[in-house]
Amino acid sequence: MITIKDLRKTYDGFEALKGVSFSIREGEFYGLLGPNGAGKTTTISIMSSILKPDSGEVLLNGKNIYTHSDESKRIMGVVPQEIALYNELTAYENLTFWGGLYAVTPSELKARIDEVLKLFGLYERRNDKVTAYSGGMKRRINIAAALLHRPRILFMDEPTVGIDPQSRNLIFEVIEKLHNEGMTIVYTTHYMEEAERFCDRIGIIDNGQIIAEGTLDELKKNSHARETVVVNFNNLNDALLQKIHSFGSDFKQVDNMIYYYTNNLQTELSKIISQCNDAGGEIHNIEIRKVNLETVFLDLTGKQLRD
Ligand code: ATP
Repeated sequence: MITIKDLRKTYDGFEALKGVSFSIREGEFYGLLGPNGAGKTTTISIMSSILKPDSGEVLLNGKNIYTHSDESKRIMGVVPQEIALYNELTAYENLTFWGGLYAVTPSELKARIDEVLKLFGLYERRNDKVTAYSGGMKRRINIAAALLHRPRILFMDEPTVGIDPQSRNLIFEVIEKLHNEGMTIVYTTHYMEEAERFCDRIGIIDNGQIIAEGTLDELKKNSHARETVVVNFNNLNDALLQKIHSFGSDFKQVDNMIYYYTNNLQTELSKIISQCNDAGGEIHNIEIRKVNLETVFLDLTGKQLRD
């Protein structure tokens, strides 16, 4: 449905995108995951025709979004990272303004505004000025505005940053509902929990490049990240360490702990525990760390996602 080909963008000599390519299928929930400054906003802004690339193109159903701009805009809804609302207007008035921009017909607009206000739990507050709204409520109105013209694709740039848990949960519920109804969603985030929970496929972006892409399972399978058994000993000393070494496991020592790396936790766990016992180790605590997006990301980039 959307094909992104070799996007490049430079800001004042700084190469923010270094040839980004990927594609998104109809009905897919696609997550662009990366740390701050990776190039997520630049990519999603170009995809939603807010920003022009230096080179490369974005095709929507095979048609370039710039040369078919009107048609593309009808299909796309955009939720930018910066909240774009008039504080001195009520929620209802703000939505009327946005509905006009999105060319929703006046006869349809009122009913549609009521519908999106109810969807986001703000119908009762519709006549309050936006200045009285919390950050989370403003964010909800911003998403509601992007939905007024019933887009088939929704672009969302970090929609849950800095908002209260109640608003965040409501946004999650709404986007899950929209996705279940068949909407294609493109979502940027640096929260791995969100990417793991919602995304059918994830593109990991770092330093202006897609460094890995796939379903969560594919990303885990293709990474070198491994499950880790962290054994904390009461009596870790050189003698014990040497014995553990002699068993030939892949491990690393950190303070009183041994980090065992394994590709098959199920079969390896009991072996690790009996080796620790055989070596005379007194186990204080055992922790199992599964492979998740955070460890995949760490493996790919050598840094934490939250850097
Ligand atoms: P964040 O999560 O912080 O929004 P991001 O992954 O969305 O990060 P971008 O906003 O796309 O990243 O920025 C990519 C890089 O380009 C960053 O290093 C950023 O500082 C730089 N950049 C973005 N916009 C501009 C601009 N208008 N002028 C100069 N540099 C910019």
